[in-house]
Amino acid sequence: MSENGNARIDNVRIEEMLKQKKRMRIFLSLCASCGFCADSCFLYRNYKDPRYMPSYKAINSLGKLFKKKRKVTRLMLEEMSDLVYGKCVMCRRCYCPLGIDISGMISWARTICRTQGVYERYDIDPMGRIKKAAV
Ligand code: SF4
Ligand code: SF4
Repeated sequence: MSENGNARIDNVRIEEMLKQKKRMRIFLSLCASCGFCADSCFLYRNYKDPRYMPSYKAINSLGKLFKKKRKVTRLMLEEMSDLVYGKCVMCRRCYCPLGIDISGMISWARTICRTQGVYERYDIDPMGRIKKAAV
């Protein structure tokens, strides 16, 4: 979900934010794709969908941002928001034997999305229940 679908992406700001977390890039490159972290994510255990694997979420959010450098697009962030908001609840239970802070990476990808006006939106229905807003 985007706050302003026409607003330009501030790639300079994104680059500055990525520089603050250079160590995360190194850790991402250390990921052995062993899938061990998947067992500690209740969402993956429930859905058995590879897109819920913690490593998949980190590689396809923050990892992609590192690769894209100054060519991040709004469409890319909006697609990413489905992963970092829709497929992770930030419970921080994912465990990596190599010490990779996976949830910290997903969290930083969320923060970057938010700086560009891309985030999950919720509505309150007439009964007072909170629901995900229609895109
Ligand atoms: S993040 Fe850690 S546990 Fe998960 S696949 Fe990579 S190396 Fe394995
Ligand atoms: S923080 Fe996200 S990826 Fe990690 S266990 Fe929780 S829901 Fe899964």
